[in-house]
Amino acid sequence: MADLVTHYLTARIPAARLSRPIQAAFVVGALLPDVVGKFLDRALQTSMRFDVPSHTVLGLALYAYAACFLFEERVRRGAWLALWLGGLLHVFVDLLKDTMGSASSAFFLFPFTARSFELGLYEPLHAVWSVPVAVVFAASWEWFARRRGADVWE
Ligand SMILES: [Zn+2]
Repeated sequence: MADLVTHYLTARIPAARLSRPIQAAFVVGALLPDVVGKFLDRALQTSMRFDVPSHTVLGLALYAYAACFLFEERVRRGAWLALWLGGLLHVFVDLLKDTMGSASSAFFLFPFTARSFELGLYEPLHAVWSVPVAVVFAASWEWFARRRGADVWE
């Protein structure tokens, strides 16, 4: 699990291109896998790993479906898609780590396959360094976009 700040910042840039309620859905979707997984782990207090289904393609589609009812009916279909795509971005960012296949996101294609997969580009502890880099990158991008007169957030 990269931290929530990193997931939030990585979702901001692609979300800025979307219309207002949909961009919020995309950002919420990028936070959804960890929030739902950790909430269910804490609330149910079992040895089951509820962070695994929240980090799978199919599980994310179901959680996104439940969460899309927080949006108005006229944008609900787009909100579902944005929630799901934001969640997939979350899983992609998680897959960049090297956890030797133990991360919940490593099983993102479950139940279609139980084979684990990750890109292994950095150790999970190095996420401490990814936050300042992500903050500087996102702030720089927003600064350049605003300087050009683009409204980053509606
Ligand atoms: Zn995660």
